Amino acid sequence: MKPDITRPSVLRELLGRHGFTLKKQLGQNFLIDSHALDSIVDAADIHADTSVIEIGPGAGVLTTRLAERAARVLAVEKDDSLRPVLEEVLSGTDNVTLLFADALEVSLEDWVGQHWGEVKRLVVAANLPYYITTPLLFHILESNLPVSDMVILVQKEVADRLLAKPGGKDYGVLTVMAQWRAEVQRVVNVSANCFLPPPTVESSVVRLAVRSQPPYPLQREAALRKVVRAAFGMRRKTLDNALAGGLSLSKSAVTHLLACAQIDGKRRGETLDLQEFARLANAFVENGV
Ligand code: SAM
Repeated sequence: MKPDITRPSVLRELLGRHGFTLKKQLGQNFLIDSHALDSIVDAADIHADTSVIEIGPGAGVLTTRLAERAARVLAVEKDDSLRPVLEEVLSGTDNVTLLFADALEVSLEDWVGQHWGEVKRLVVAANLPYYITTPLLFHILESNLPVSDMVILVQKEVADRLLAKPGGKDYGVLTVMAQWRAEVQRVVNVSANCFLPPPTVESSVVRLAVRSQPPYPLQREAALRKVVRAAFGMRRKTLDNALAGGLSLSKSAVTHLLACAQIDGKRRGETLDLQEFARLANAFVENGV
């Protein structure tokens, strides 16, 4: 039987034996809680036909569990000094490929196309380094990878933003753009003492079920990004002023666009829901803005 690396003493011994020291700047807070690990694997609904991309395998504690259920796992780790640790933990596991690279820089799409070809079902699972959560989320969601679900452990505050509703303080650009791409659900909250070393913040596992179709008709996603950024850019201003300032447009042009979208310009940007943002973006495109 393999040593249980969710036990802090076992994990410390393993890392120490390979001369590995934890790097705070890479967000190296390793999970040592079986319940949290199982919740990620269960929420990802992994079967024998599922291919998994794991970002940041660390010492391989989640990787091992993913590999037990999945057809195959690609584990992308930036820190090359984890190589001997991962090779030891994954010895005897033949369906894991280790790729030592920065997940934000490597083209996962090219990698999957070249090495796996057609995939039946692809999911992303990760205990994410918090410093890359948002860019990584969009690196995956905006790629052409055929990902059906992402199950990720993130800072609780980020989970709150991903799940926010219009009008609340957490509702922002991240909320709208993530909910546009996926249906978001909180799986479980995870306390700081489930990690070695414990981070200074609480965490949550969230599942993003990637939409196969946009939730509302939209002519151009770039226009949506533009209006959403502008609408949230000046939170204390009314929507008409925020759009005029953020997009360098005249007030009369903005008034016309808002009328086309049937949205009251005296509202605040953060009260608009996904459908209203889509209408506004379409009005921009139709008016050639
Ligand atoms: N999966 C392990 C676990 O649950 O215990 C480790 C998670 S730890 C929070 C994050 C991992 O991501 C670390 O191993 C870190 O070295 C790695 N990492 C940090 N930045 C990365 C990047 N840009 N690309 C790939 N891996 C990265």
